[in-house]
Amino acid sequence: MDIFSAKYAQEFDERDPLKLYRKKFELNDADLIYLDGNSLGALPKATPDRIKQVIDKEWGYRLIRSWNEGWYDRSQKIGAKIAQLIGAQPDEVIVADSTSVNLFKLAYGALKLQKGRSKIISDQLNFPSDIYLLQGLIDLFGQKHKLELAKSSDGMSISNEEIEALLDDDTALVTLSHVVFKSAYMYDMKTITERVHEHGGLMLWDLSHAVGAVPVNLNACNVDMAIGCTYKYLNGGPGSLAFLYVRKDLQEKLNSPIWGWFGEDNPFEFGLDYRPAQGIRKFLAGTPPVLSLTAIEPAVDMLNEAGMNNIREKSLSLTNYLIALFYEVLQPLGYRLGTPTDPAYRGSHVSIKHQEAYRICKALIDKNVLGKSVIPDFREPDNIRLGITPLYTTFSEIFEATVQLQRIVKEKLYTHFSTARDEVT
Ligand SMILES: *Cc1c(COP(=O)(O)O)cnc(C)c1O
Repeated sequence: MDIFSAKYAQEFDERDPLKLYRKKFELNDADLIYLDGNSLGALPKATPDRIKQVIDKEWGYRLIRSWNEGWYDRSQKIGAKIAQLIGAQPDEVIVADSTSVNLFKLAYGALKLQKGRSKIISDQLNFPSDIYLLQGLIDLFGQKHKLELAKSSDGMSISNEEIEALLDDDTALVTLSHVVFKSAYMYDMKTITERVHEHGGLMLWDLSHAVGAVPVNLNACNVDMAIGCTYKYLNGGPGSLAFLYVRKDLQEKLNSPIWGWFGEDNPFEFGLDYRPAQGIRKFLAGTPPVLSLTAIEPAVDMLNEAGMNNIREKSLSLTNYLIALFYEVLQPLGYRLGTPTDPAYRGSHVSIKHQEAYRICKALIDKNVLGKSVIPDFREPDNIRLGITPLYTTFSEIFEATVQLQRIVKEKLYTHFSTARDEVT
């Protein structure tokens, strides 16, 4: 059967073993195709009730008693559930702060431990916030370190060898995104972590575009530290708290630069001399926003129930389908593929490039153009980033989005839009 047909996509949707999960999300707009779950995950139907329970019962009725009835441990309990998604022990992960702040805390701890070593390595494809934080740390440590960024020869990926070429015995810290935010290139976590360790460096992986999208096995890869976001594939809601992982045997040695009372050994003793808590809790700083914290749990439960291997299988079927459609109908129109074709090196989104990408995105989003609103992300300068969320993205949506991409260029529908950028793209 012709793959570029609604019928072909529908057959895949019918056979999808995870199809029941879509109904568990608040996705009721028949005129919307949401391909942006990698920027802001959809709302699980269970979440509003859960939050209402926190407001009405835990806060409204139980008031401060709730701190001993589940609030105090919640950062660790939800961390333990996230640990299951990323191949870590329950006491190696905790929910806290934002991804940016967690990167700061762990990278600071790593540089303190690696005193005498001056090189920090990342890459040019990394999320800029991660790079800014490293620059800020270098400033904080008095300009004693240098940051080296691996370059990409194809603008989309960086080989193991290109990272290895930068490693030496002066390397203190290497930090990379497991799945790169623009191209979805997925690093070989195990090999790179091994090479970094051979040189005595510490490895910090940013899992923001990986957690809940691809199977991750931090313990099997002997990873030192990791951080990640919960408002993308974990559907925790706008600005929801991030998580951090520190390998068990490193927890004692590594310290946070923020000595807050929630990371103290016994905060309710109210002693005046800080002693770090035992274990992962020492990476907390202050009181967590309980409402937002609680909102992370429903989708994490769903992901654990569905199983990361099943999710990966569906994600690859969807991205493979999109890439096949790209070659069939989009490439001939001048679109270019900005994502690796080798599935072993691909996360769960697909970037399609076009010199008119910004206006094409505008036309996709405006439902008056072709009857349905397709929401991707535009990423400078020419990326149309299509996020594939295996729990709710369907093959039919991929098909319909491809039809729109095709028609918008073929019929020059993007020319009705301005190239002036919105504040958030
Ligand atoms: C989304 C994302 C972040 C977000 O950081 P915040 O502190 O939550 O704003 C950081 N790093 C990467 C790689 C991301 O994809």
